[in-house]
Amino acid sequence: MRRFEDFLFTNRELVIAGFAVPASFAYRMAEGFGNWLHRTFRNTSARHDESVRAIQARVRAGHASGKRMCTARKPWKTMAIRTADFKQGLHQIPIDLRNVLEVDEERRIARVEPMVTMGQITHFLAPKGFALAVQVEMEDLTVGGLCMGVGIESSSHREGFLFETVEAFEIVTAEGERVRATRDLNAGLFHALPWSHGTLGFLVSVELRMVPIEPHVRLEHEPFHSMDAFCARLEALTASPRPPRFIEGFVFSKNSAAIVTGDFATPPQGARVNRINDWHKPWFYSHVAQSLKTGPVSEYVPTRHYFHRHTPSVFFQLKDIITFANKPWYRYLWAWMGAPKVSLMKLTMTRELRFQAFVHRVAQDILLPIEDLADSVRLSDQLFDIYPLWICPVRLFDHGAHEGFLRNPASGAASQMFVDVGIYGIPPSVKGGRYDQVRTSRRLEKFVRERGGYQMLYADICMTREEFEQMFEHRLYREMRRKHAAESALPEVYEKVLLESWLTERMRSDSQDDPGNPR
Ligand SMILES: Cc1cc2nc3c(=O)[nH]c(=O)nc-3n(C[C@H](O)[C@H](O)[C@H](O)COP(=O)(O)OP(=O)(O)OC[C@H]3O[C@@H](n4cnc5c(N)ncnc54)[C@H](O)[C@@H]3O)c2cc1C
Repeated sequence: MRRFEDFLFTNRELVIAGFAVPASFAYRMAEGFGNWLHRTFRNTSARHDESVRAIQARVRAGHASGKRMCTARKPWKTMAIRTADFKQGLHQIPIDLRNVLEVDEERRIARVEPMVTMGQITHFLAPKGFALAVQVEMEDLTVGGLCMGVGIESSSHREGFLFETVEAFEIVTAEGERVRATRDLNAGLFHALPWSHGTLGFLVSVELRMVPIEPHVRLEHEPFHSMDAFCARLEALTASPRPPRFIEGFVFSKNSAAIVTGDFATPPQGARVNRINDWHKPWFYSHVAQSLKTGPVSEYVPTRHYFHRHTPSVFFQLKDIITFANKPWYRYLWAWMGAPKVSLMKLTMTRELRFQAFVHRVAQDILLPIEDLADSVRLSDQLFDIYPLWICPVRLFDHGAHEGFLRNPASGAASQMFVDVGIYGIPPSVKGGRYDQVRTSRRLEKFVRERGGYQMLYADICMTREEFEQMFEHRLYREMRRKHAAESALPEVYEKVLLESWLTERMRSDSQDDPGNPR
């Protein structure tokens, strides 16, 4: 076993390219067929009601057994980094709900089951001329995971997180009751559900706001050779009364960055349309980096390509997993099979590989007030020296008395502009060596807390419970856990997002004398 693990670790790149890429291709085909069967034979509201009744019965049985509960989704299938040890010994509830139930074009609402993925949504809605108001990028992310966790995209400077576009949640509580929550009905629950990670009940459907789309998006790439100029422009763009529909930034080094804005548009006759996601094309962020040499660029891209522009490169992560995957020979020979699925890479992840990834790699998303962007980039440079960084502005709204896991804007304003800084990769200083993940993460987390920011919880967090409760507001959340009988039946968010206990143990024994390690 040890030898096999060593082999997997030493030859990880070849294993991923040679096994995970073709396996992901085959898996996608099978998944597409399965979804088609499901859509064709099980997609009715009556079926949905039947499935929800079955979930209610299982939850009641779980509740009666006195065991704590969680969803039965296999840890390797989720996009979160952890291996979800907390599930062991819990009563697991299968949630096999993966249909778009209804599209009300007049009200512009899509009623969707939680296991529907972003790829399925665009596949289904785009031909009808619609998309979600916050159409999250990675094709494999699920509606349930994004509504109960985080959902952010390049339209979030206008719309906020995905949960701000939810009109209604339908959950099965820990006692097996089916409850609908909207801004007016069960408003406390409605506002407590986002970021609750399935610890208030089981989500069985959600109504999401849609927007009309056009077949193409016109993109403007604006390069910068000064961080101050980049930050000032991003602030000005997001504060504008009529901002572009899409805004995202890329930081390529301490002094070079680009902003890409987009709006739906019809290409004039004869205009070249850049199909950015065709398998032989360079990855989107490397295409954007070209503007640093050429100057500003305008182009038209197909809308669905735009929505999933970071899927082929798994944001910026594939470059460290298959270092040659953006080379022309690889793209022409192999990339037609698509990127390896995160889930299949996790499936081949042994404990040793998880440990090695933990001590060598970084995947963090931090959310801070936009004024703190320049400082965040400086700190990231100091701690990690990883580029590119993903910069995605997001508007946080005031929810009055229903302040959820994220606090109302401190200024008392109706909304406040934040920015997500995505740091994904291998710090150059650790190539070949080892990276002090706990100490570095804790420095980052401290900075985020001091600036009134938040950390996305799919990533590894090293906070103590006390620090976690400083970062996230627990008042409404705990009130709703009491009200809906979740306290003893479902774990708390902190328990779900903690590092795996064996990993903490191994870190502790490896660094007994490390004062930065809280455990
Ligand atoms: C490569 C990569 C790219 C990413 N890109 C983005 C991005 O562009 N924007 C963004 O916002 N996030 C992004 N994320 C993070 C993403 O938001 C999280 O991974 C999120 O948790 C969704 O993942 P998932 O769909 O696999 O959900 P899961 O990890 O399965 O679920 C997330 C949480 O919700 C709970 N949950 C899910 N379904 C239900 C249900 N039916 N009932 C009760 N609880 C439920 C789960 O138990 C879990 O605690 C990215 C992550 C990765 C690894």
